[in-house]
Amino acid sequence: MDQRSKGAQVYLCPMHPDIRQPNPGKCPKCGMNLLPEGTRFGLLRHMVSSPLHIGVMLALMVAVMVAAMMLLR
Ligand SMILES: [Zn+2]
Repeated sequence: MDQRSKGAQVYLCPMHPDIRQPNPGKCPKCGMNLLPEGTRFGLLRHMVSSPLHIGVMLALMVAVMVAAMMLLR
């Protein structure tokens, strides 16, 4: 998950993960400040920025809850 912590830092747009730059700056598509990849804050912002990621997290939470309920039965 944090493979890039050592090595070249990559900055990416929270809204456009395909935008990757070796230096901090602004996204050419939306003008948002690029976030350093690998930081917990950047990862959190990235996760929250994508409905797909939120859906995956919710699905995981529901799956864990359902599994727990079935085990308690
Ligand atoms: Zn962008």
